[in-house]
Amino acid sequence: ANMDEFACGSSGETSAFGPTLNPCDPKRVPGGSSSGSCASVGGGLADLSVGTDTGGSIRCPAAFCGVVGIKPTYGLVSRYGMSDMAMSLEGPGPVAPDVFGAALLLSVLSGADPRDCVTREPGTDYTTAATGDVEGLRVGLVKEFIDGVDAPIAQAIKKAGRRLEKAGAELVELTIPSVRYAVPMYYIVMFSEFSSAMAKFDGFRYGHRGDADLDGLEASVSRTRSQAFGREVKRRVLLGTYVTMREHRDAWYTRALRARSVLRQEFLDRLEKADVLLGATMPCLPWRLGELVDDPVAMYLMDIMTVSANLAGVCAGTLPVGEHKGLPTAVQLHGRPFDEVTLIRAMSAVEGGR
Ligand code: GLN
Repeated sequence: ANMDEFACGSSGETSAFGPTLNPCDPKRVPGGSSSGSCASVGGGLADLSVGTDTGGSIRCPAAFCGVVGIKPTYGLVSRYGMSDMAMSLEGPGPVAPDVFGAALLLSVLSGADPRDCVTREPGTDYTTAATGDVEGLRVGLVKEFIDGVDAPIAQAIKKAGRRLEKAGAELVELTIPSVRYAVPMYYIVMFSEFSSAMAKFDGFRYGHRGDADLDGLEASVSRTRSQAFGREVKRRVLLGTYVTMREHRDAWYTRALRARSVLRQEFLDRLEKADVLLGATMPCLPWRLGELVDDPVAMYLMDIMTVSANLAGVCAGTLPVGEHKGLPTAVQLHGRPFDEVTLIRAMSAVEGGR
């Protein structure tokens, strides 16, 4: 399936093969980076598909294409066979037209794999959780995932809250203050891990090789990488190299790691007070093709609601709740680490039960 190059992007426009189109409106972005996975399910070309999520790459395109996507807890699904983007943040997960389909595919994908040492937990049959039963469940309405989102998304969140309440859940209001800093935290950690993961694509050990005349190792590697990588990938390799240089490391990388542990602690604490957290997946509806692709900072800021789940290592899922002028309006739920069962219960109650 088409995707942003090396999974870097939130719009599905930076693939070497050209942009993916949104099945709901071909003039709008499908979201990224797993754009083809979500557009194919949204457009009815595939029943189910797999994406990867390092900072929202399943949830963003699922939200924009009107399908269901789950970012499982880090370590629930093996990364064996994936090309690393940022190895402490990512993993594969299911994309489906409905919650039951996502639960079914997750049942197949999950479980310990000797080829990926971070997988330890056994998988389970998640389909039995897609019942819509949320009696007694506590749902946290997270201020940082609600304030400032576009009106149609805010309405979708309200609707989701009402459906959960009607099905027997209790709503509680919460705040997670460090979410404000999640985008810079994410991008510093991701740039650092990404530039290290990309080092092997030098044309000798791995990947495309530039022109054959060898005029020294450095010149050859530099030519290979200049030719083969797209702009966004180059930008990230350069920034990652910069923030991990010895003289900058403490100011950027080490601080981002410290902030990440504060964020994780805040999430785990809020997930004691509530069983799942409710809010937006994306702060807005899908934007027009070409609108943000030359403004990387504006594009990065679109990840404000998705990157925290990866930084905190919790599970999260997105599903459509209605639409606005033909474009899907999605909500996101976060769950405790390895508690995909409760996450799916809540998602299926929002969907309307089964
Ligand atoms: N939009 C994020 C980024 O560009 C997400 C990437 C991902 O999850 N693979 O880094």
